[in-house]
Amino acid sequence: MLIAGNWKMHKAAPDEARALSESVVDAVGAPEVQVAVCPPFTGLAAAAEALDGAPVHLGAQNMHAEGEGAFTGEVPAGALRAYDCRYVILGHSERRAYYGETDDDVAEKARQALRRELVPIVCVGESLEERRDGRAQDVVARQVQTALDGLPIGDPSRLVVAYEPIWAIGTGESAEPEQAQEMHAFIRETLIEQHGESVGGAVQILYGGSMKPHNAEALLAQPDINGGLIGSASLEGESFAGIVEAGEQVT
Ligand code: PEP
Repeated sequence: MLIAGNWKMHKAAPDEARALSESVVDAVGAPEVQVAVCPPFTGLAAAAEALDGAPVHLGAQNMHAEGEGAFTGEVPAGALRAYDCRYVILGHSERRAYYGETDDDVAEKARQALRRELVPIVCVGESLEERRDGRAQDVVARQVQTALDGLPIGDPSRLVVAYEPIWAIGTGESAEPEQAQEMHAFIRETLIEQHGESVGGAVQILYGGSMKPHNAEALLAQPDINGGLIGSASLEGESFAGIVEAGEQVT
């Protein structure tokens, strides 16, 4: 079980990132599940200092697929490792929608993340229109297949997939637990087809989209929901810790 906070473009200044990291460390105590926070790039150094020795991992929200070069404004995987990042979120729907990231981009980034020993948290999920048209599984299957086909994972702990239905992100309207479970089971089958039972059967699949302390337990209790990717509820230590506690209740 992994509970990961996606801070998006919040708490980006070093003092803000340090304060929230410290508050998360205090609030989660000695967690019985895996916990991670993903600040903006400019908060990574301060967050890394604040998390030093604590049972909370660090992650980033994006990276470039190349190791270095003339890519103004971009950040390579190697630099994230230098801050002790364990995770990197890839293909978040906001990056797909606002910055034109494609499934192929996500595939290249995921390959580079693995090369640099980062664990990619690969985000997939359908829009409301795609769900209403009955295309949700087709969209998610395409995203998973393109991003992860042929990826040399080897060990299931080297990859995390996050199912984030776009209509549930930041809306306060989470998917129903059974609805989320149905898609998670479908993603699980797809991963097993791609990577075999031993890897595909054990990769953590997180749910993301308005997960809060009050609805987390019902979602996390589903058999194929192995954790949460948390947006707004990760911006306060107490609410984030409430979701961590829900994860502890069901493991
Ligand atoms: C997210 O953007 O990854 C997310 C899950 O956001 P929220 O929890 O705010 O819906």
